[in-house]
Amino acid sequence: MEVLNLINGGHDPAVGGEWLDLIDPSKGKSYGRIPRSGKEDVDKAVAAASDAFHKWSSWSAERRSECIDRLADKVQENAGLLAEAETRDNGKPIGLASTVDIPRAEKNLRFYASAIKHFASESHYMEGVAINYTLRKPLGVVACISPWNLPLYLFTWKVAPALAAGNCVVAKPSEVTPATAYLLSTWVKEAGFPDGVFNILHGLGAEVGDALVNHNDIAAVSFTGGTATGAHIASVLAPKFKKLSLELGGKNAAVIFSDCDFQETLSTTVKSSFANQGQICLCGSRILVERSIYDKFRDALVEKAARIKVGNPLDPSTRMGAVVSEQHRDKILGHIEIAKEEGGKILCGGFATQPEGEPELSGGYYIQPTIIEGLGTNCKTNQEEIFGPVVTIQPFDTEDEAVELANSTKYGLAASIFTNDLKKAHRVAGSMETGIAWINCWLLRDLRTPFGGVKDSGVGREGGFESLRFFTEPQNICVKL
Ligand code: NDP
Repeated sequence: MEVLNLINGGHDPAVGGEWLDLIDPSKGKSYGRIPRSGKEDVDKAVAAASDAFHKWSSWSAERRSECIDRLADKVQENAGLLAEAETRDNGKPIGLASTVDIPRAEKNLRFYASAIKHFASESHYMEGVAINYTLRKPLGVVACISPWNLPLYLFTWKVAPALAAGNCVVAKPSEVTPATAYLLSTWVKEAGFPDGVFNILHGLGAEVGDALVNHNDIAAVSFTGGTATGAHIASVLAPKFKKLSLELGGKNAAVIFSDCDFQETLSTTVKSSFANQGQICLCGSRILVERSIYDKFRDALVEKAARIKVGNPLDPSTRMGAVVSEQHRDKILGHIEIAKEEGGKILCGGFATQPEGEPELSGGYYIQPTIIEGLGTNCKTNQEEIFGPVVTIQPFDTEDEAVELANSTKYGLAASIFTNDLKKAHRVAGSMETGIAWINCWLLRDLRTPFGGVKDSGVGREGGFESLRFFTEPQNICVKL
């Protein structure tokens, strides 16, 4: 596969002529190349986007919406191709790519194609004196930077509202997983977007990503990724007074009370722990269980986790594929070693593995689902985001203790609470220092709701009209009567 940049409606290699290898993590082998873009590519893309802004922002919301809907049609028509590309690029099971990633990418586009037609601004009447109304103007050229874990899903979640609101976009998908964003770029013209409205650059975050963030003609940055990268981007943008939305890391707790529905909680916890190889910012990586059911729940969870088949990501029966890269596999294994040094007991997994009977996958990056017991709150394992198929399990005695444990990290993205006591459920959910709290479920998403984290998990909210508010600038107009 040869990935190319999309700049001003044309597909080009990087100006500097350099390339990076595209790696299939299921085999640990290169299967193509992507442009190693840099500052010159950013300059070209931002210039094209600036030129296109007047035209695109003057189109009606309906007309812009039609382009986004046509792009969604292409995603729908090519869903099989995209799911396979996502799996090859990321290592995730094809079952997940084809039921979650790609349908959600299409839904993101359709959602914002529709939302922009229902977006309204406020007016404030001063009795007999004046009427104020608020204009919601697009910002100009915006940068959308997305990570590798849910590549097309998170990419479309940003670019759809940005484009719908009338902005021109320069987007940078993760260099580790550029394939589906590239495929999407090949349908942009056919969908009816004028040249320059939607540009996609490929390459390293520290090079092309940094050049994009530093470009003076960028009006805003919407970023999803690690907390350290987010902090760096914030330090670049703050003195320039640019708008910034940050969706960052998590260290989410699952709080399981003894009065929960045991089997349902168990199967939800298996999913929240290991879906996408644990590489979802919302995964519950700290499992807190009320002591009276602790042993029973732990043993049942370990039994289920040990039975998860780590297999060929392209096999539809596989539930657990490869982690995204060699570097990431080694980082996860490093965390497991730290957990052992901290006195953690490995209840299952804890090692790199290989799918059985698949010699051609022997160079791939696979980790057995891992559950660790016996660690306190303040250790690295319970404080740092591991972002892999590794969870810890701890008992608690009281509701207050559960809340304290759940809130005891610098992160604040999401939490799940499992109980059949309605009052307790609301009380504990409201006590979570997180942007999202699920009761008796996990990753149940309504795209209209505000999405994002508190503390080190981010600043701002995406989702519904929140994204359209982020990608527009309010202007108050006051008319004297
Ligand atoms: P990174 O922060 O490493 O990268 C995210 C994106 O930023 C990538 O496109 C990356 O490019 C780019 N990037 C890296 N450095 C810079 C820079 N200096 N300037 C501009 N862009 C840069 O995160 P990961 O890709 O490793 O993603 C995993 C992280 O994302 C986890 O912490 C996870 O929790 C978080 N996440 C948060 C979500 C949320 O909604 N809160 C959702 C999903 C993930 P490249 O990859 O090419 O280097």
